Amino acid sequence: MKDKNKWGLLAWVFIFLLLLYFIQSVRQINVEQELPYSTFKKYIKAGEIIKVTVAPELIKGQYKAADGKVVNFKTVPMPDPKLVEDMEQYNVSQFSGNLERGWLMPFLMNWGPMVLLILFWLWMIKGMQGGGKQVMAFGRSKAKLQTAKKTKITFADVAGCDEAKEELKEIVEFLKDPAKFQKLGGKIPKGVLVYGSPGTGKTLLAKAVAGEAGVPFFSSSGSEFVEMFVGVGASRVRDLFEQGRRSAPCLLFIDEIDAVGRHRFAGIGGGHDEREQTLNQLLVEMDGFDTKEGVILIAATNRPDVLDPALLRPGRFDRQIAVPMPDLKGRDEILKVHAKSIKLADEVNLNVIARRTPGFVGADIANLVNEAALLAARKERQSVGMDDLEEAIDRVIAGPQRKSRMISDREKKIIAYHESGHALVAKITPGSDPVHKVSIIPRGPALGYTLQLPLEDKYLTTRQEIQGKLAVLLGGRVAEEMIFNEITTGAQNDLSKATSIAHKMVVEFGMSEKIGALSLSQPSEEVFLGRDFNREPKYSNKTAEIIDEEVKRIVTEAKTSAEKILRDNAAKLKALAEKLIEKEILDADEVDRLLNPEAANETKPEEQEKKA
Ligand code: ADP
Ligand code: ZN
Repeated sequence: MKDKNKWGLLAWVFIFLLLLYFIQSVRQINVEQELPYSTFKKYIKAGEIIKVTVAPELIKGQYKAADGKVVNFKTVPMPDPKLVEDMEQYNVSQFSGNLERGWLMPFLMNWGPMVLLILFWLWMIKGMQGGGKQVMAFGRSKAKLQTAKKTKITFADVAGCDEAKEELKEIVEFLKDPAKFQKLGGKIPKGVLVYGSPGTGKTLLAKAVAGEAGVPFFSSSGSEFVEMFVGVGASRVRDLFEQGRRSAPCLLFIDEIDAVGRHRFAGIGGGHDEREQTLNQLLVEMDGFDTKEGVILIAATNRPDVLDPALLRPGRFDRQIAVPMPDLKGRDEILKVHAKSIKLADEVNLNVIARRTPGFVGADIANLVNEAALLAARKERQSVGMDDLEEAIDRVIAGPQRKSRMISDREKKIIAYHESGHALVAKITPGSDPVHKVSIIPRGPALGYTLQLPLEDKYLTTRQEIQGKLAVLLGGRVAEEMIFNEITTGAQNDLSKATSIAHKMVVEFGMSEKIGALSLSQPSEEVFLGRDFNREPKYSNKTAEIIDEEVKRIVTEAKTSAEKILRDNAAKLKALAEKLIEKEILDADEVDRLLNPEAANETKPEEQEKKA
């Protein structure tokens, strides 16, 4: 492959030199002295003219100068019927007519350098983008570079995302034997979207699918498709699919699909034309190919929310798989996978390391193990010890790769109490949605989350339910206050949600006695911006004051009720938070067991934990 690129480069240099030479020689031929017509006639009469070519607008020729040199000349013809006569009389040895003024030479002379410059410029840009590669092959998909390389990575190399692996197994089965699968009537998705934070192993998973199935893996990236030249992205997409069809069964992988797949029309000033074209091409290709061919597309992104809905429609990336940040157990497993490649001292307890690295993703852990090995090597040790690993943690946290937030032990504790506060209030407040999951693993901007899922779809919400919801929202902040005697910024989102709900209760739902059953809300969510005239509140300043008071009262009451619940159940709060610090994620069952000692006595979760 590399050689090919080299040849491409050489060819361009060669063409460049050739053109240069050509233009140079054209220039030389055309060095012509411009003579006034009178001088030209004088030279004829002096017998110095050797050769003349007469065109309608130009006379060219050669004369012999005084020093014996032959000089090219040109002159603008004048109405001169005697010219031919004169030339005959004074023995001009050769004269002829020319129908037209030549166009090629002047054209080349005028435009040649320009064309050369443009070509050179294109070449430079290409060089910059591709790191000097692929100078000739503008539209070729870079996926080509991966041809025939089967990956040896398997699911065993990917740790800690069992659910994602489970979902992908079906794809593996299909790729292994597409024909068999169809006979059974299985319906296979064309495209699978894997999403999750950077470094969580999305690429690794895709490779493992190819590796497990033993099919070729073609990888490309959305950012490669969005290049400077119009149409290049689209043609790359076409090439990628073409390649896939030819090597079916196989797996096509597109990393950073959000680079092409962003919602169209998003942003001010319309879309990015080139990107849109590429996206359209991708959609067309996806519609055009049939899973029967045995080609599966896997795309990865860390921003599934910005993707164009068209991409997610049935028949496209209709299967979506989350690759979460690893929890404690996941980190432990990933550590084990990577520790296989180094020599560990006997004293090493990887579980301790896993505990010390909340917020680390797979890529961080790979990096950590590598750093530890380097540190041990520098100290000329025989094996990697615990202190090397500990030191490596600090290095990775401080290192340039890890720009995102790291969580200290104290922060982890605060987050655990905060989330436990939410969860406990939710468990105890009657009418609250059941707690489905509590987590202190960061997800997006949130440091932790408490997931409540309603039992059934609800179309009406009672005042009591809303008040309960407010108490749950404030439970996080209240728990922080109670335990640490200090408040943090972590509750900002909760507070803004609570305030807006309370405001709605007063202004929209008529749920405050002081205001009464009025809906005072103005249509603030105008379809068209700029209709300011409609935005003035329809109530007096006095009413506005009452609204503020009422909102404050409602929020304060919710806070008081959260405080009461948490104070009455301080022991449970502590138990929940401590378990959360230990396990980082608790599901509904585990929360129940912790909060109901009777049930806990039966199953002894503590011991089960140790065995697992
Ligand atoms: P992504 O595509 O999600 O950004 P990658 O798949 O490129 O992340 O991961 C980068 C590297 O991190 C991998 O090559 C691997 O060494 C390591 N890694 C990431 N996730 C895992 C995991 N779940 N198990 C083992 N190694 C992992
Ligand atoms: Zn919260």
